[in-house]
Amino acid sequence: MGEERLIPLFDVKLGDREIAAVEETLRSGWLTMGPRTQEFEKVFAEHLGARHAIALSSCTAALHLAYLAAGVGPGDEVIVPAITFVASASAVRYCGATPVIADVVGQHDLGLDPEDVRARITPRTKAVCAVHYGGYAADVDALGRICEEHGLALIEDAAHTPSATPVGRERKLGTFGLAGCFSFFSNKVLSCGEGGLLSTDDDAVAEQVRSLRSHAMTSGTWDRHRGHSAGYDVLGLGFNYRMDEPRAALLTARMQGLEADIARRRELVHRYRGLLAGMPGVTVPYRDEEVDTSSCYVMPIMVDDAEVREPLRAKMLEGRVQTSVLYPAIHEFSAYEGTTEGSLPRAELAARTELTLPLFPTLTESDQDRVVSVLRESLAAVGRERSLA
Ligand SMILES: *Cc1c(COP(=O)(O)O)cnc(C)c1O
Repeated sequence: MGEERLIPLFDVKLGDREIAAVEETLRSGWLTMGPRTQEFEKVFAEHLGARHAIALSSCTAALHLAYLAAGVGPGDEVIVPAITFVASASAVRYCGATPVIADVVGQHDLGLDPEDVRARITPRTKAVCAVHYGGYAADVDALGRICEEHGLALIEDAAHTPSATPVGRERKLGTFGLAGCFSFFSNKVLSCGEGGLLSTDDDAVAEQVRSLRSHAMTSGTWDRHRGHSAGYDVLGLGFNYRMDEPRAALLTARMQGLEADIARRRELVHRYRGLLAGMPGVTVPYRDEEVDTSSCYVMPIMVDDAEVREPLRAKMLEGRVQTSVLYPAIHEFSAYEGTTEGSLPRAELAARTELTLPLFPTLTESDQDRVVSVLRESLAAVGRERSLA
């Protein structure tokens, strides 16, 4: 270990065709809310099998508008899993409502636990946010049933799943609830830098979201440009949550490679699972068959002993392998203190034992072998140091 090249957690390589699509857009002189955004929305809606796909500035914006569309307002509660990116919860606060943080299933499945959701429903609960952790489906059937029984909206945080399904299903994640919220942030499976999208089959939700993304104005710049409308009215409190044309063009171009990228991710995850099978001290969550319908956003592993995780990550970095933690538990952040009654033992264990290995479509098998051997050697070294201490 020592002088070798760093294997990054994540890497993105844009092709000439993708770069040309952006250049052509820049040369067109039409930079926001135009034909390329409409084209991307059409392509993504068809790809998902959703009636509506509305391009936005981020997934955080999509979550905000999804909660508003679900009627979430001051005094209301939204149930959110503890193991997710903080935006799933902060967007609840944007609405003046309270995120109620719930536990995950366990070390083999980091999705929201339906039974814990059931236990946290109160008369103020308005919605449940299902996060498809790492590309793997949360239990949308059980969560959907609970929401239906209690008259709640199911919102899917599909930031990790631009193209994934539950096992044995055709229907894509992001189409099971009232709205699906997607992220195109630079390190996501489908990326353009900053960007997001809300999908829905509900015409009224789509209309509301299209309006709120652009100041709740009665007509957009594009319509005015084409001479459709001279004046406009403002119907409510809206936002600037628009996507611009270069990003939309980049995303449409990148959609062509999406399934191939995901197929490569799945191949690499299966290979990791083979290499890690039986390695003492670590457990790999999810089952082989789940990999085949996942978008494989990340490669999570769980260490058996929480005390080992941070020294192990430091050792792996010395071995020139970058790792991360997906995620710290939300209810343990300073800003979310007191949001949960009691502890969330499974989320807390996951937050202390999870470690994410490098995964991206251009990761080579020899680099992957190096990741696994650095992991093995680092585990052994940390074990030796701990037995001496
Ligand atoms: C990245 C991410 C978000 C936020 O997406 P942005 O597009 O950066 O706003 C929300 N939820 C999850 C689970 C994410 O991973």
